[in-house]
Amino acid sequence: MSATSGSRYLQRLAQQRNVWLDGEVVRDLARHPAFAGTVRSVAALLDLQDDPVRGSELTFTTETGAKANLAFLVPRERDDIFRRGRSFRVWSDATFGVMSRVAGFYRAQLTGWHIRSNLIRQEEPHFPDKIARYYADLRDRDLLLTAAGHDPQIDRTKLASELGDLYTALRVVKETEEGIVVRGAKMIATGGPYMDEIMVSPHSPKTAEEKHYAVMFAIPASHPGVHLICREPFASERTEDHPLSSRYDEMDAVLVFDDALIPWDRVFIGNNPEAIWKIRSDRFVSAISLHENVARLASKLEFVAAVGVELAASIGIARFSHVQDKLAELFLQLETVEALLKSAEHRCALHPDGVWEPELPPLVTAKNLGNRYYPRAIEILQLLSGAGMLQVPSTLAELHGPLGSRLRNIYRGADRDAEERVKLLKTAWDLAGSRLGARHELYERFYAGDPARTYAAQYAEYDKQALLDRVARHIG
Ligand SMILES: Cc1cc2nc3c(=O)[nH]c(=O)nc-3n(C[C@H](O)[C@H](O)[C@H](O)COP(=O)(O)OP(=O)(O)OC[C@H]3O[C@@H](n4cnc5c(N)ncnc54)[C@H](O)[C@@H]3O)c2cc1C
Repeated sequence: MSATSGSRYLQRLAQQRNVWLDGEVVRDLARHPAFAGTVRSVAALLDLQDDPVRGSELTFTTETGAKANLAFLVPRERDDIFRRGRSFRVWSDATFGVMSRVAGFYRAQLTGWHIRSNLIRQEEPHFPDKIARYYADLRDRDLLLTAAGHDPQIDRTKLASELGDLYTALRVVKETEEGIVVRGAKMIATGGPYMDEIMVSPHSPKTAEEKHYAVMFAIPASHPGVHLICREPFASERTEDHPLSSRYDEMDAVLVFDDALIPWDRVFIGNNPEAIWKIRSDRFVSAISLHENVARLASKLEFVAAVGVELAASIGIARFSHVQDKLAELFLQLETVEALLKSAEHRCALHPDGVWEPELPPLVTAKNLGNRYYPRAIEILQLLSGAGMLQVPSTLAELHGPLGSRLRNIYRGADRDAEERVKLLKTAWDLAGSRLGARHELYERFYAGDPARTYAAQYAEYDKQALLDRVARHIG
């Protein structure tokens, strides 16, 4: 029998990478307690592509006859937008929207860069060919991709070039015949330890003075001279007691480049702030990648809403009007994001490059709403639960221990037995109270950029003239 997508992933993961945890390099991610549960989840997710039913919702056939994930599909037909959207949703639903990097955002972005590569052909003549080869390689080998784009915080009033020379923001220190040598840090690569590949480029515009900091390249996660510095793990080995932390701790890592040589074929743009920003901020690229983000957000809000409904039912509070008010708010969030997603898909348009483009403004709106919706959704779970989420035994097994019969009476709910209610409360706590839960709240606020500036960008890009014209017509 041929290897499955998941088992091929596990073979690739065995390639040693410099994943640092607690001051040591992790030797075997697939067996290490901080990573093993998530590795199994990633492999299982990839295996869905081989599933006789789900597989067809997740993959397409390439021009060479191979099967590839739909995040890589170039949308030449209108229906391709809907196929892509469905596949994002199926994949996100498989992890309740909790896993973000395996779901395909950066694969979708790479597809966008490949499609729009001619935009910077004049400034960067090699970009189209290099990105086309990289895109085809990842697509055909089903490689997972994350990205890191931010300079270390240090002092936000300074340009990267003013931070000093040693191990601050990532920059080019040398060019050789083989490639560029880079030194310094980029933050943060969510999922870095688990991914095959990492794309590195500035996620905000660089100035002319920061030319050597304006470089776009990709490396395998196992690239020599690259270190992934992990935050404290939130993973648990107790699946029953920590249903999310035990399976979906994606890990966030800072990348340190120790004079790493990046071969020319993987240097897509070098020392060119304008070209990087032109391709990064292209509307088509934003639309095709945000499409995935918003589908994942819908999955996650649906999960939170479902947990909210169950929490209320489990202690019989759904009849109270303020509880209904809070549950309705969860539904409003979900329906709003779903509606924006559908609107973006149904109002897709043919781009001059001959590809279909989901409509951008509803996607930007949904993404920006998400960073306010999600923290509020988590707050609603806390308000619905009261102390319930903490009133659980440390382990489910205690329900069958020496005090079992008493505990099963105390922990039962209005409509379910103690075992079911404790399982629900443990899921709710993992979402809304655990370290993983706190990380997710921060993630939804910040993963797509500083919300203060993403809102400002929405203001800046909005067609305000149409509004002004309307007032002018009214005033006469
Ligand atoms: C859990 C998590 C996962 C993430 N995953 C990824 C990933 O996979 N890849 C990736 O590239 N990034 C990732 N990010 C990083 C994310 O994109 C950044 O957190 C975000 O862009 C903000 O940058 P920062 O964290 O450096 O904060 P800063 O930009 O330093 O902001 C910190 C505070 O200072 C204020 N501030 C700073 N500078 C300015 C300024 N010039 N003007 C006005 N206000 C300012 C901000 O408003 C904010 O209040 C992730 C973030 C989180 C929390």
